[in-house]
Amino acid sequence: MFNRFIAAILPWFPKKFIWLFSKSYISGETVDDAIRVSKELKKDNIDITLDVLGEFITTLDEAEENKKEYLNLIDVTYKSGIEGNFSVKPTFFGLLIDEEICYKHIREIVAKASAYNNFIRIDMEDSSCTDMEIELFSRLQKEFPGNVGLVVQAYLKRTLDDVIGLSDLNSEKHPLNFRLCKGIYIEPAEIAYKKYEEINKHFLEDLEYMLKNKIYAGIATHDKPLVEGAFKLIKKYNVPKSMYEFQMLYGVTPNLRESIVKDGHRMRVYVPFGTKWFGYSTRRLKENPKMASHIIKAIFYKG
Ligand SMILES: Cc1cc2nc3c(=O)[nH]c(=O)nc-3n(C[C@H](O)[C@H](O)[C@H](O)COP(=O)(O)OP(=O)(O)OC[C@H]3O[C@@H](n4cnc5c(N)ncnc54)[C@H](O)[C@@H]3O)c2cc1C
Repeated sequence: MFNRFIAAILPWFPKKFIWLFSKSYISGETVDDAIRVSKELKKDNIDITLDVLGEFITTLDEAEENKKEYLNLIDVTYKSGIEGNFSVKPTFFGLLIDEEICYKHIREIVAKASAYNNFIRIDMEDSSCTDMEIELFSRLQKEFPGNVGLVVQAYLKRTLDDVIGLSDLNSEKHPLNFRLCKGIYIEPAEIAYKKYEEINKHFLEDLEYMLKNKIYAGIATHDKPLVEGAFKLIKKYNVPKSMYEFQMLYGVTPNLRESIVKDGHRMRVYVPFGTKWFGYSTRRLKENPKMASHIIKAIFYKG
């Protein structure tokens, strides 16, 4: 109730106030900000994935501009000497306006990344996009195996079937590459697990399937019990370091992050940046009011 109230009123707060908490989670407005933060993370032996903030656009002109921004980002990142990959949200390229145009934009981005032997991760958005995003990934995986990956969400009841359904595309030379996360959108109970325990149980089931079947897993969580569950599975299946990594969001649970890195596991941090940080922050809040408590903590309590 309190979270919902805070989430509802935060968009009316001055932008400067919202930035107070957003700056803990967003590297800044420009590519230079993202590169600066990436270099800091690199010093701590942490890899990065860069994300230009924005989603659910309404015109195809925006899609064209967004594609150009990513193409430039790939060049700039390469020139800066940072070894990092990129995350894209298909609705930022018009998925819900024209699926084929969106595919062509993302294909161009993946082709560019592949020329640098780099990698594009397709983020998973809300359930209105799931089928289309799986299809988009599967087309690109066939053309650019090794340069593209997909996010899957443990809270969706369909996820293990989706992963199994894509397994035909797995090979020793070019393993499928999934980022497994819990899922951030509010979905109806008919299609999504709701309880913490249920989501965690399915997270570990999905992860076990991936590790057992030699699918590369990006284990994206800040939840300690899941990190510990992942450690057990890595040990059980004797998974080499080349077949998994942990992933976290910029600014979240730095102590847990550090301890995972100290234990010798690969860690990648999701570094978002861009001028659309305000809309992004407030929309996230409306979608998931639970985030409000994180924000209050971030403002008043630095733990
Ligand atoms: C690298 C990465 C990429 C992601 N990509 C996607 C995607 O493409 N699609 C999608 O639907 N979701 C994505 N997510 C979000 C994910 O689905 C979860 O909503 C989010 O990670 C919180 O889940 P959790 O596993 O950390 O567990 P939770 O149980 O939610 O959190 C565990 C603990 O972590 C801390 N914590 C978690 N989130 C925050 C936060 N924002 N601020 C402060 N503390 C926090 C809290 O201490 C909390 O108690 C991504 C997450 C990561 C890490």
